Amino acid sequence: MKVAKFGGSSVANAEQLRKVSNIIQDDSDRKVVIVSAPGKRFSEDTKVTDLLIGVAEAYLNNQPHDEKLQLVLDRFHEITKELNISDHIIAEIKDGIESILGSSDSDELKLDAIKATGEDSLAKVLSAYLQSIGVKASYLNPKEAGILVSDTPGSAQILDQSYDILYKLRDREEIVVIPGFFGYSKDGKLITFSRGGSDITGSIVAAGVKADLYENFTDVDSVYCVNPTIVDNPKEITALTYKEMRELSYAGFSVFHDEALIPAFKADIPVCIKNTNNPTGIGTIIVSKKEPQPNPVVGIASDTGFISIYVSKYLMNRELGFGRKLLTILEDEDISFEHTPSGIDDISIIIRDSQLTTEKEERIIARIKEELDPDTVDVERDLALIMVVGEGMDSTVGLADKATHAFTKADVNIEMMNQGSSEVSMMFGIKASKVDESVRALYETFFE
Ligand code: ASP
Repeated sequence: MKVAKFGGSSVANAEQLRKVSNIIQDDSDRKVVIVSAPGKRFSEDTKVTDLLIGVAEAYLNNQPHDEKLQLVLDRFHEITKELNISDHIIAEIKDGIESILGSSDSDELKLDAIKATGEDSLAKVLSAYLQSIGVKASYLNPKEAGILVSDTPGSAQILDQSYDILYKLRDREEIVVIPGFFGYSKDGKLITFSRGGSDITGSIVAAGVKADLYENFTDVDSVYCVNPTIVDNPKEITALTYKEMRELSYAGFSVFHDEALIPAFKADIPVCIKNTNNPTGIGTIIVSKKEPQPNPVVGIASDTGFISIYVSKYLMNRELGFGRKLLTILEDEDISFEHTPSGIDDISIIIRDSQLTTEKEERIIARIKEELDPDTVDVERDLALIMVVGEGMDSTVGLADKATHAFTKADVNIEMMNQGSSEVSMMFGIKASKVDESVRALYETFFE
């Protein structure tokens, strides 16, 4: 049994939905289908989810929202017309949105319910289309399917009891089409996962039904070993472990949501990334264990938008509780850290810059100075992280040497380096302006 998830570009218009329906019919093991909301049809287009967020924000800011809502309705109208199916979904979306906006729910809950309308309506449209061409299929709401989540709008976490309920989906005769991106809290409120969360739904459902394979259909043939906007025609990765994918998707590989790996990983369900526009391609398979490969490095990822808080103090290594006190100051400001490279007398805390507002920064620096009496405290901005990833790296000598040579060749200063003891990745911190040349040099070193 396979669970197939189709992302936004795969369901962006009627033509794509026809391809989706062919893919579903091509393999009778594809019994459960998860869909995103219609995404971009061309690069300047707007995703339906973003249009819906625009509707909700306009309403919540006491501004007219009708025109924005019309854009959503137009997208669905175009699809139903071209698929030659009933367009009653248009009125359903309109009435549904107006009743959400007029409800007494909190603004956060309203926003979640509006955002989810894209996936929910698309799932109904796809199942109606499948029925219209004689395929036995039905729409299934996540509440009925049993997707129970935490009461945390915009960042739902699955509740463990969901898995047993989901297992019952195996008994269904027909193909079920479930909207991705949201579940329901115990008290029946609709709560969405974080953005891009249909991948998470797919993974949860695949784990719940104990699928043999979770197929994630997107618009690329496979996961590339490096960002194809930085290196032309990079090599494709045919097989990856969950750990490797986690490291890569953490640092900028956006093909698969990083939270989506957890359910599949725990249930040991292989995940296959495939292209809706080229479904017979082999794609990339993500598994728990793979055969040793000749190249210990599988990929190079990079991401910008990091800040480092650098603290130094003579004899820091002997000062009991220094790290704890420092991290507590961040915790008190609700800031999570990414990495903490350290020396005997200094430590850098790397955080995402989106977390550090000017007020928080001022409070944090003042507290560090007052409570830890450091010799230096500095905030360094515009940092990028580059991760060189591969499980085979733990038993290979000389990889760090090769990597640092690549930076030298590209004339890039390494601001910091970190390698965890699992040795599945090496991390390098550099100035964000130097990312492209660094990634190219690393690619040449490890892949050419
Ligand atoms: N439609 C949602 C988003 O754009 C979820 C998804 O596509 O996976 O974030």
